[in-house]
Amino acid sequence: TATTTPEREHIFRSRLPDIPINNNLPLHSYLFQNLPEHSHRPCLISAGKTYSYAETHLLCRKTAAGLSKLGVKKGDVVMILLQNCPEFVFTFFGASMIGAISTPANPFYTSCEIFKQLKASNSKLIVTQSQYVDKLNSNSEFKIGEDFQVITTDSHNPPENCLDFYDLIEISEEHDISETQIDPEDPVALPFSSGTTGLPKGVILTHKSLSTSVAQQVDGENPNLYLKTDDVLLCVLPLFHIFSLNSVLMVALRRGSGILIMPKFEITAMAELVEKHRVSVAMVVPPLVLALAKTPAVAEYDLSSIRLVMSGAAPLGKELEDALRSRIPQAVLGQGYGMTEAGPVLSMCPGFAKEPLPYKAGSCGIVVRNAEMKVVDPDSGASVGYNEPGEIWIRGEQIMKGYLNNPEATTATVDAQGWLRTGDIGYVDDDDEVFIVDRVKEIIKYKGFQVAPAELESLLINHPSIADAAVVSQKDEAVGEIPVAFVVRSNGSELTEEKVKQYIAKQVVFYKKLHKVFFAQTIPKSPSGKILRKELRARIPSSSPS
Ligand code: ATP
Ligand code: MG
Repeated sequence: TATTTPEREHIFRSRLPDIPINNNLPLHSYLFQNLPEHSHRPCLISAGKTYSYAETHLLCRKTAAGLSKLGVKKGDVVMILLQNCPEFVFTFFGASMIGAISTPANPFYTSCEIFKQLKASNSKLIVTQSQYVDKLNSNSEFKIGEDFQVITTDSHNPPENCLDFYDLIEISEEHDISETQIDPEDPVALPFSSGTTGLPKGVILTHKSLSTSVAQQVDGENPNLYLKTDDVLLCVLPLFHIFSLNSVLMVALRRGSGILIMPKFEITAMAELVEKHRVSVAMVVPPLVLALAKTPAVAEYDLSSIRLVMSGAAPLGKELEDALRSRIPQAVLGQGYGMTEAGPVLSMCPGFAKEPLPYKAGSCGIVVRNAEMKVVDPDSGASVGYNEPGEIWIRGEQIMKGYLNNPEATTATVDAQGWLRTGDIGYVDDDDEVFIVDRVKEIIKYKGFQVAPAELESLLINHPSIADAAVVSQKDEAVGEIPVAFVVRSNGSELTEEKVKQYIAKQVVFYKKLHKVFFAQTIPKSPSGKILRKELRARIPSSSPS
């Protein structure tokens, strides 16, 4: 009889050595730990106003006192419904200082979406701008001033029943902060995942998870992401998404770098600000890379101050990466791989280190230090070695505590040994570099052969007459699923369906060929930079029987 031998576990580690991590401090104390060294340096740079580190810290403390005065206590949840702005930062850390938890939400959400998150997170207070208050007035069950409070940041005459942010903090003295004991395992942030694959889920991140994640990136003798006090980071990605909140705001605060806050993305305005403020570090997502690489007007701006570009949140093809490299040749260009539940960073380009290591185009870098990664064969459940694809799992103190009020989903995602399964298919190559193929859920199965939409999208975008593209599956009786594309033509192009199909067919094995091409005006994307494939699939005309 066959004997079963216990599987040998293949565990991947960072090529950088582990470091001592001080993750027993409250998050705000850890991030502002080096404050005396850079208290007079610029911290938040926003629409003509710059706040030094000392001013930023003081305003966070005053916000903490103001929130206490309103009755916010340890464990309470505050919703931040703001575009990027300094008050986002003051509120987040003000809440942290009194042991409260912030749940950031997209201000462009509909009233219905906002109230769903408000109820799910049980928050009793929203910090927002007056322009969004209408949406908060339209719920029959929840009344402003009765069921929840609203603070607006932008006017001394707040809308009815709302409070003014600056009135509140001006009357508050920083020493009014009520003494609270904060445990490292206490939650501090309650972001909701993007909802690319289903409904967004509330993710509990603790003081310990976030300070560990920041340390894994920027601490140590040879930090994986080396930031200097005179760096200026571009903060254009929405802070309500964990990528920007952690890997722009928090990492910069820890290192004492400047943070250029942009409330919304517009490509030429962004290029202008990069030039004006000599932005040196830019965290981006693939749609932004696409705009940087393909917008002709960008060429008119001086982007020579940029020394580092990190793309994350969605797959960035080698072709697009190369196109950006030709625009910003002086910069180190690489990727980070994150997931809200993972705290969020799983891997980071080693070219960003103080003593950079070589890396390859298309890779998401190496697993973060002080953490373990494995790649699991979805069929056998065994962890596999180098160059073999499977589902990526991660373990370390940075990962989430669990999903909010959802123990079933939590146990389905994090196992008893502390491994978090990502739902992403990838592999680790001989040099310990992580490559993401695609999400398990997005892989198209043609007669059992696997087709990754991300690979075809990367080829399509590389075509000079294609401005943007997305690939989705379509059910097919004969072969299971077929890959079909949505293509946005460049201005003036007369590209045909046949031409697009041939262009791809020349470059790929038979089962990856495109079966249909639909031309579109735009590709729908989430604010966090992901293609909304659900929406595209719904647009496919139901196939006529053939
Ligand atoms: P939901 O789980 O609610 O469907 P989501 O998974 O889109 O939403 P996020 O936490 O914002 O929510 O996204 C995490 C996912 O983003 C990862 O699981 C991965 O699929 C993708 N991702 C992040 N960084 C990269 C990267 N560098 N390359 C490829 N994919 C990436
Ligand atoms: Mg997810």
